[in-house]
Amino acid sequence: MTGSRAGTGRLDSSFPTAWQVVATEIEALARDSRRRPVVPVLSDDELRKQTEHLLDSSPIPLPNLTLETARLLREGSVHVTSPRYFGLFNPSTLEAGIVGDALVAAFNPQLAVRSHAPAAATMERVALEYFESHLGFGQEEIHSTFTTGGAEANLSAVLTALLHRYPNYGDHGMRGLERRPAVYLSGESHHSFTKIARMLGLGTQALKQIQTTSEFTIDPEHLRTRIQADLREGWDPLLVVGTAGTTGAGVIDPLEEIGEIASSLDIWFHVDAAWGGTALLSPKLRGGLRGIHRADSVTWDAHKWLSVPMGAGMFFCRHPEAVQRAFAVKTSYMPPSTDQVISDGYHTTAQWSRRAIGVKVFLSLAHLGVEGYRHLVERQAQMGDVLRELLERKGWAVVNSTPLPLVCFTHPDLQTGGSTTRELLAEIYRRGIVWISDVSVGGREPALRACITSFRTSHEDLQILVEELEAARASLAGRQRATAAER
Ligand SMILES: *Cc1c(COP(=O)(O)O)cnc(C)c1O
Repeated sequence: MTGSRAGTGRLDSSFPTAWQVVATEIEALARDSRRRPVVPVLSDDELRKQTEHLLDSSPIPLPNLTLETARLLREGSVHVTSPRYFGLFNPSTLEAGIVGDALVAAFNPQLAVRSHAPAAATMERVALEYFESHLGFGQEEIHSTFTTGGAEANLSAVLTALLHRYPNYGDHGMRGLERRPAVYLSGESHHSFTKIARMLGLGTQALKQIQTTSEFTIDPEHLRTRIQADLREGWDPLLVVGTAGTTGAGVIDPLEEIGEIASSLDIWFHVDAAWGGTALLSPKLRGGLRGIHRADSVTWDAHKWLSVPMGAGMFFCRHPEAVQRAFAVKTSYMPPSTDQVISDGYHTTAQWSRRAIGVKVFLSLAHLGVEGYRHLVERQAQMGDVLRELLERKGWAVVNSTPLPLVCFTHPDLQTGGSTTRELLAEIYRRGIVWISDVSVGGREPALRACITSFRTSHEDLQILVEELEAARASLAGRQRATAAER
């Protein structure tokens, strides 16, 4: 159908309905993605031309349009759901999550107010309480909500911390504060905090970078001395971020020590566990996040390791009254609350009209079960261990240390300057069999980065990854020899 007008004529009865097309495509995606190129095969020009073509003339029957749209997505995406995608924290999506998202699109439950969508709100509540029970927070009242993602959850944390510390901030903003609030994090923390500092008027100078150890985790000693120095200079230490599973290297900051320092100095402790939070579901891995129970607030994304479609983040906070101060508003047009104000989303989040984000999470939890999720997490962690072993056996050097399935690595050949990490990556993408990325951890030389983001990734996929790395390396070395011979 490529290039031609996507069948605007009458359909005969043997032609599938749009829903049959969707079902076939989704099943094929789960079944065949391993055999498809992991990178886009259509150029940007082709994509533009073929996309515009769909708007050119008469309306297109939905089944044909569905086929065309699926083809464009298939031929114009990095396939993050492929078991051979080892990229950023984008998961393969669980079938139950896809079903949940489709139903939500159809019913369109409005979660700004609970009374409009009590069923969806209840599913969200039950799912949130399940995840909350893994944080070890104790018996107090906890605020928890689904967010669009980790960036919104982190924003909610900083704003809530501001209103917890300065109840007047809501009326007077920064101008009402005597001292400038400071936020502590490391160079490995997520860059959403840069935007947050701009959005909230803190300014990026308020972000105080703490040195990291040789393991790329926050150095608690430096945190302590930096806070003392800032106090002397008139800053008001407001919040410290501990990351559980950094985006670059997947390492976990020393949450226990950071929590200890934060509580002794009355500083808000936020744990950004956007990716790593899911390790809490495994008794084997949970210990790595020791100290998370000390957090004042936690970010935990569902659209990362919980493997539901984007976007679904979660925000947990043990100061519900400060959350209210941050987000509650009075209007004459919103339906009145049926119970406490706290359960209406528009009073407790930055969002207003709100998709039922948590339904797909609830369905995934109900379908996989607690044991199913535990198995998913432990299997991916185990695949991470297998990858480390396979790489080292072939002479690659792993440069990060984490129990989570994210491996940063390099090769002596890349260190001695023959070819660069970027060249190697370009060769990997050109081959199109696997997808990995590169990262500079702790400001060092770039390393390759492979994360096990798919619950479908198998031992064989990892062998293919290492074979691809070896093949790319050989091809670069061959090219170099050829260039040297020409000289
Ligand atoms: C991905 C990530 C975020 C941002 O989350 P989004 O869901 O992409 O908004 C924040 N923190 C960490 C550690 C992350 O890995």
